Amino acid sequence: MDIRIGHGYDVHALAEGLRLVLCGVEIEHTKGCVAHSDGDVAIHAICDSLLGALALGDIGKLFPDSDARYKGIDSRLLLKEVVKVVADNGYSISNIDCTIAMQRPKLRPHIDTMRERLSEVVGIGVERISVKATTTEHLGFEGREEGVSATAVTLLIK
Ligand code: MG
Repeated sequence: MDIRIGHGYDVHALAEGLRLVLCGVEIEHTKGCVAHSDGDVAIHAICDSLLGALALGDIGKLFPDSDARYKGIDSRLLLKEVVKVVADNGYSISNIDCTIAMQRPKLRPHIDTMRERLSEVVGIGVERISVKATTTEHLGFEGREEGVSATAVTLLIK
């Protein structure tokens, strides 16, 4: 059996009046991510972990932000494309583990919806998808509510 592990990391700045979308779920908040796409930092980290497992670069390489086609795009469509790349390379996704670091708002009430949303897009069971959220105890850019970061680890098997 061929097993591949991949890691992804992404950061977006937060600004007043923008939509906040995490793992395909729109969350009510005063701030949202500044981005060329919908700014779904968690999905971007997951995409990078999948591409990382295959040593195929990152989503910036696959979907350049200089390309007008990706302006405001629903990041679930990007993830769908990346999942297709994984399948095209003969791998299936064993599991995904993602952590979002954000001071506010509380993400816990949204976690299960996020997992279900990801499960629909990735096509694996929700029990194979973990989404966790943490504050950074008011430390750093996440703690000052200037931005949000996300990390993801995925396992691929062939
Ligand atoms: Mg990003």
